[in-house]
This record gives sequence, C-alpha cells and structure tokens, in this order.
Amino acid sequence: MQRRKFINTATAGILGAGAATLSGVALAQIPEFKWRLASSFPKSLDTIFGGAELIAKRVAAATGGKFQIQVFAANEIVPGGAVLDAVKDGTVQMGHTASYYYVGKDPTFAFDTAMPFGLNARQQNAWMYEGGGLALMRELFKEYNIYQIPAGNTGAQMGGWYRKEIKTVADLKGLKFRIGGIGGQVLQKLGVVPQQIPGSDVYPALEKGTIDAAEWVGPYDDEKLGFNKVAKYYYYPGWWEGGPQLSVYINLNEWAKLPKEYQAILEAACAEANIDMQAKYDAKNPAALKRLVAGGTLLRPFSNEILAASYKAAVELFEEIAAKNPRFAKVYTPWKRFRDEQVEWFSVCESRFDSFVAATVRSDRKK
Ligand code: CA
Repeated sequence: MQRRKFINTATAGILGAGAATLSGVALAQIPEFKWRLASSFPKSLDTIFGGAELIAKRVAAATGGKFQIQVFAANEIVPGGAVLDAVKDGTVQMGHTASYYYVGKDPTFAFDTAMPFGLNARQQNAWMYEGGGLALMRELFKEYNIYQIPAGNTGAQMGGWYRKEIKTVADLKGLKFRIGGIGGQVLQKLGVVPQQIPGSDVYPALEKGTIDAAEWVGPYDDEKLGFNKVAKYYYYPGWWEGGPQLSVYINLNEWAKLPKEYQAILEAACAEANIDMQAKYDAKNPAALKRLVAGGTLLRPFSNEILAASYKAAVELFEEIAAKNPRFAKVYTPWKRFRDEQVEWFSVCESRFDSFVAATVRSDRKK
C-alpha cells in the first residue's frame, strides 16, 4: 500500500493537478529518459551486480517505462575501476561502484565505502542517513561533478584466501595480497605488498601465483569466483571492511535535467537496493560457507597479534593522512566521534545479544 501511494503521488506530480493515476493519454506527456549505467562488477555476481539491475527495474516500473536505465557490467563500457571518471566526464549518466576504488584520487573516498576497523553495515547506514555522513560525502562528490546515493552493502566481509597459514605479523612480510580500499595501505606498514586488481581478474592472478592471497567479499561471491580451488585457508574477519557500502553515482548535469519526481523515484530505488543487497548476502552466505567447508576449505580467525598490529597501523595511517589532507581530516574527526559512540552503544546491547545467542544456539545444536 505504501509503495502504491508513493508511486501515485510521484506520477501525479508529473501529470499535474487532478491526474491521480496513469492513463494512456497522460503517459504520453511524461518526459522520457534513457540512461546508461556503468557497474564496477561482473554479471556473474548476482548480489552486487544485481543492485544496479534492481534500481533499473524499479525506476522503469515506477515511471511506466518512461525512465529507462540500461545496466552495463564492468568492461562493457569502462573497466570496473573507471566508473567515477566515466560518470564525472559524462561518458555514462550513472554508475554503481565502491567509492574506495578511488582512494588513489583522494583517500576521503574510503568513508563512502568502508574504513579499516570502522563501521558495520548498520552503523554505516546510521552515519550516512542520520549522522551527517551523506552531507559530507556529497560535498566531496560535488567536486567531481557527481551526485552520490548509498545503494547496497555486503555486510562484514571475510579476510580472504591464502595459500599458506598466516599466524603472526612476521608471516605477512612480502605477502602479495589483493585487497580493496585503504586496508592495503595499512597492511603495507606490516610488510604486505598490496595489489589493486578488479574482481574479474583476481582468480587468474591467484591461480598463476602472481599473487599469494586475495580477498573479495564473502562465501557466496568467493565461491562463485572459485578462490577455494586455488587457496585453502579462508581467514576472517576482513577488518578493513566491517560494512562496506556500494554507491550510485550520477553526473550532476544529468541529475539536474531529471524532473523532481524522477529524482525521488531514483533515490527510493537506491534505498531499496541498499536493503536488498544486504538481505541477499545474509541469506545466501551461510549455505555457501557450509559448501566451502565441506569441500575442504579451512576456516581460520586472524590471530589477536595480527588484529592488534593492524589496528595500531590503521590508526597511524589515518592520523598521517589527516595531517596532510584537510578534506580527509574534515570527515575523519566527526566520523571517528560517531564510530566511537556507536561502539559504546553496540557493546552494551547488540554485541551481548549477538554473542549470547551465537554461543547458546551453537552449543544447543550440538547436544
Ligand atoms: Ca573486499
């Protein structure tokens, strides 16, 4: 009911006063838009690539097919890591990507996806929608001629696939590791040689031995990409991405051309994709993890030594970047305050609930 009411209100605005529902005649007066969307992801990953498809489907349905968005996979128009430039320059009107792919342009982009030891998915949403994050991010994106909307989350990611066991900080030395975002810069302080490789090219690199380890997302995606066939040890957690957000980018000139109703529909479709992607990952990961373990994958938690050293290195890195990048510092200070407050609250209630339920249900099942 809510959805129908929203759609009717939106279209009524387009049609003008007095027209409450779509009719064949009135439909002809609605402006038509045909956009191209460049995704950073391959079609095979239905969860993450599917976010853009869901948005396109919803927007078409809510505008009676008048606003069409055609979704292109990575490399169909531009490579996965070139979506920001493609939207900025108007090669495409719109993109779906992870902003931390662009930390080479400015490390501040990492806040739009995930920061090492930062927010989980719930907290990321709280920061973006209610904690001032969205306004800060839009200020940054404006400089790139982009309007950005949160549009997906994977939840906490796994720590990746390794050919050898990684027990101590010393084991990280010289490790060639494919890792997204600024987590690579943190690990560099501990001797890792980080590699930036788009999702579709990770498997061949790991298979050939050009890299020693790779992380992507979690069980459902990683199984599809076949990492378990070339590396046995599967570590957790991916402390560099506790709740990475995906984002829709829209060229600001194109955004300005849209009627307000279409803008509202697009924003609503992105909010739906934000919920839907997390739901898909949460629903599909357990069975995938079970299959991986049954197939010989060995699950390993990162040692406290590695986590503690990584945390220390992360804080050092943030302070270093903040000291020389005022844009980063402007976001880092309020972000850190928000993160610290969230940690206090979640430690009181959420984590106690989660840890008690996890321990009790698991032991109950073993009886
Ligand atoms: Ca990842």
